Amino acid sequence: MVNPQRILVTGGAGFLGSRLCEHLLSQGHSVTCLDNYFTGCKQNIEHLLDQSSFEVTCHDVTLPLSLEIDQIYNLACPASPVHYQHDPVKTTRTSVLGAINMLDLAHQTGARILQASTSEVYGDPAVHPQPEEYWGNVNPIGIRACYDEGKRCAETLFFDYYREYGVDISIARIFNTYGPGMQVNDGRVISNFIVQALKNQPITIYGDGSQTRSFCYRDDLIEGLVRLMNSSLTGPINLGNPNPFSMNELAELVIKMTGSQSTIEHHDLPADDPSQRQPDIQRAVDGLGWKAETPLHDGLLKTIAYFKGRLANND
Ligand code: NAD
Ligand code: UDP
Repeated sequence: MVNPQRILVTGGAGFLGSRLCEHLLSQGHSVTCLDNYFTGCKQNIEHLLDQSSFEVTCHDVTLPLSLEIDQIYNLACPASPVHYQHDPVKTTRTSVLGAINMLDLAHQTGARILQASTSEVYGDPAVHPQPEEYWGNVNPIGIRACYDEGKRCAETLFFDYYREYGVDISIARIFNTYGPGMQVNDGRVISNFIVQALKNQPITIYGDGSQTRSFCYRDDLIEGLVRLMNSSLTGPINLGNPNPFSMNELAELVIKMTGSQSTIEHHDLPADDPSQRQPDIQRAVDGLGWKAETPLHDGLLKTIAYFKGRLANND
């Protein structure tokens, strides 16, 4: 490692954050993981605890923080609709106050800061696939708004700190990402379908299952985040796998790959559930030399093996 950095990862005990901490440590950096353990857990990072360059701090990003640091990855925020809708006011506070506190820290220290934003800023998109220039179609008073508008406001804050104070910012708009490390009760579609299939329980498809998502494997996404952090780009930059699948196709694939006896059970479609999602990743290809490499089938194989292990341990 040529230039070791002191790096803060907020949300570092979560699904993506814990993998990011692991990756950054393997590159020789000093990493501080900050988390309040709302959806993250200590088991995600316990294998890193014996490394002297790894520190963990139990802290809420809605509160200010003082730390000497070179880079900040701001990932703290529940990402699953089930979890971010559990306490919507807290979700907005986490996105907005969390962004302000981490941007203040970046301003004080001169650190470069990356925001984990989301394809949710596009809402239920009327433009398809979604390029970064698209301003989105978000219901500001709906049940998803605490997350969507919170993340949109965070993007606004990032660009205002950049223009007003010269803070070194970057924004990644992450599309649905999955992989080992997700919680059994995460509530997002890939973990739900795999856990249901492995238990031979009905697969719960919301609505008629024709809605599409583009699923990115965890390690591809981490590579994109790190490339963006180490570039000079502000973004926003879409990071995701551009191959869309309907929820019906996903359910069929998971049943086939697990050899499950599960049947399909249709449930009501939640309000404001986007009908389609597909990233235009040309900016990431041109600016970062990045594209998602892992086909859904290969990523699912690893994720199914991971959940088999979790269920065998009664997790
Ligand atoms: P996750 O829920 O597993 O991780 C979020 C982490 O943030 C958890 O460890 C949680 O305990 C922590 N956290 C929540 N509120 C906090 C607070 N107030 N203070 C400190 N820590 C707090 O979710 P994830 O999938 O790992 O997502 C990580 C980030 O990436 C989130 O910001 C999310 O919005 C963004 N993102 C993820 C996806 C995806 O598909 N995984 C897609 C778009 C955006
Ligand atoms: N979904 C589903 N069954 C589930 C969980 C989710 O059909 O058990 C659908 C959900 O309605 C959405 C899609 O799968 O259309 C992706 O949902 P997820 O919660 O993973 O992420 P989103 O992209 O909606 O934030």
